[in-house]
Amino acid sequence: MAGEKEAALAAEPVDGPTIFDIIIGKEIPSQVVYEDQKVLAYRDISPQPPIHIIIIPKVKDGLSRMSKAEERHVEVLGNLLYAAKVVAKQEGLEDGFRIVINDGPEGCQSVYHLHVHLLGGRQMNWPPG
Ligand code: 5GP
Repeated sequence: MAGEKEAALAAEPVDGPTIFDIIIGKEIPSQVVYEDQKVLAYRDISPQPPIHIIIIPKVKDGLSRMSKAEERHVEVLGNLLYAAKVVAKQEGLEDGFRIVINDGPEGCQSVYHLHVHLLGGRQMNWPPG
């Protein structure tokens, strides 16, 4: 199975629907850990640290990637970060966690529907790879 980097380099930066729309539509199963009107959070299918959760806007609205963000997206970007904090608490990550947004091929983005990675459950390293 290809690694994350290979998957990111092979990914087509699309504006249209992605696998995450199928997850939003509940057409394929996912382990949802948080949901509100604007945001959905579920466990990553291929977790890197022990706790690895993907947090996405339910409506893509042109947000295929962070670099496509416009002023109208400011509220939903805040919703995503706040949801990440809520989920971190829910997951018991009292000793800390990491939030990551990958953008484009060099940022190692493989799914073109903006998403926040919530990573935790072990000591992280810095700098990242
Ligand atoms: P990216 O590399 O784009 O920042 O992150 C995409 C993430 O989505 C990866 O960590 C990958 O494992 C995860 N992912 C891809 N397809 C699925 C899926 O069908 N279900 C779930 N739960 N996660 C997925």
